[in-house]
Amino acid sequence: MTDKIISNLVESLKNEQTFVIIKPDGIQRTLIGEVIKRYESLGLKIVALKMAVPTADMAKKHYTLDPEWIRKVGEKSIIGYRNKGLVPPSEDPIEVGNKVLGRLVRYMTSGPVIVMVWQGPHAVSIVRKMTGGTEPLTSDVGTIRGDFVIDSYQIADLDDRSIRNIVHASGSPEEAQAEINLWFKKDELIKYRLIQHELFYDVNLDGILE
Ligand code: ADP
Repeated sequence: MTDKIISNLVESLKNEQTFVIIKPDGIQRTLIGEVIKRYESLGLKIVALKMAVPTADMAKKHYTLDPEWIRKVGEKSIIGYRNKGLVPPSEDPIEVGNKVLGRLVRYMTSGPVIVMVWQGPHAVSIVRKMTGGTEPLTSDVGTIRGDFVIDSYQIADLDDRSIRNIVHASGSPEEAQAEINLWFKKDELIKYRLIQHELFYDVNLDGILE
């Protein structure tokens, strides 16, 4: 590989973007600062942020950007039940997935949310790690979903509502770009230098001593 190709690759790896929503329950629980602090402490750079009340159309569009999402979310829910020795409400992932979507639209349109774009090395996977697994009951301790809420597939199902888990975070770089394009106009993303990144990734750490 030529030096130019390597340096372009390093730049694109260092500047991966991901999309995050602080969901209506996160706002109501007054966790905006806490959520932002978690991602900020990792060293990621926030490049776009706004508050909005999602319409049903927007919520639906967001979750169905991936045409496979309905089936995947259904499968994941069914596995969640089985792993706890429980019987899922249906064996059909499409049926379960559609039910989840209906509940999610109610949840996401219930109040204001904050939408954000975070940028930095491995932004997608590091933000997912800090966010934690979908079901707060089994999300790891130390993650946002594991630390600030208790909810489960079982209780949410019995109440016929969505699992409340404070935040949404993109699952892949491709998903992130599709979600960013849905929620933000190009000029809402700000290009700027975060001085601390220069220290984080300086190859020789040679600008410190006087
Ligand atoms: P994640 O948000 O972890 O990427 P999914 O994309 O699979 O998870 O699901 C989107 C959201 O739908 C979840 O964050 C959760 O709020 C809700 N959800 C998923 N599965 C269920 C379910 N079986 N019952 C209720 N709500 C669900």
